[in-house]
Amino acid sequence: MSAPLSSEGGRHGAGVALTSVLLVEDEQSIAEPFAQALTRNGFQPTIARTAAEALRLGRQEHPDIVLLDLTLPDGDGRDVCRELRRDSNVPIIMLTARGTVTDRVVGLELGADDYIVKPFATGEVISRIRAVLRRARVQAHGVEDAADAAELTVGDLRLDLPARRAWLGGRELDLTRKEHDLLARLMRDAGRVITRETLMSEVWDENWFGSTKTLDVHIAGLRRKLDDDPGSPRYIRTVRGVGFRFTAPEEAQP
Ligand code: CA
Repeated sequence: MSAPLSSEGGRHGAGVALTSVLLVEDEQSIAEPFAQALTRNGFQPTIARTAAEALRLGRQEHPDIVLLDLTLPDGDGRDVCRELRRDSNVPIIMLTARGTVTDRVVGLELGADDYIVKPFATGEVISRIRAVLRRARVQAHGVEDAADAAELTVGDLRLDLPARRAWLGGRELDLTRKEHDLLARLMRDAGRVITRETLMSEVWDENWFGSTKTLDVHIAGLRRKLDDDPGSPRYIRTVRGVGFRFTAPEEAQP
């Protein structure tokens, strides 16, 4: 028996269930601010502070993803992972202060999908959550979900994903491959902030460790082709120190 693996609901906008995150973490100084950050990023977190609570909530609430601390007051997170895996294919990311290769291998062998070493940056964890959910969707359905399948429209900008073509008004845009990928990624989450790290890892398929100059060059190129003024953007909005937000369809001016 498997728990249903829902899509990353929140990204489709208002009226759709948010992606639920079961955060298993006994340290309040980590759990509380991180839960708040998850909420700000459009997730719906529930905190479990013990292994027992994690198992109960994991089975009752069918979260979309589990973030699992390894050292819990009443047990080991790896046992929780093993137990959850008995009857659920929910994606699990392990959180731990331990960073040895052995721990990582054991964690992944138990069925965890990813592994993050504390202390972590919130933005990094959120981009890893999105990446794990994306992989899980692809594994469950064999393809990216339906929202990714055909066409994206915001204002007078239209993107045909399978054909890799874009139009602004009636005019077709001449986009490079990466510009197209970047635009598609931004438009898929239109209205929501996407971090620089997420864009680097998903569009360039690289872990982000340093410069994101490549990203800035491509954003500048896209803005030019979209006639988008960075000072008062219609489409691509800079969220300083975080990333970018594409205008939501409902806020686009006609
Ligand atoms: Ca702990």
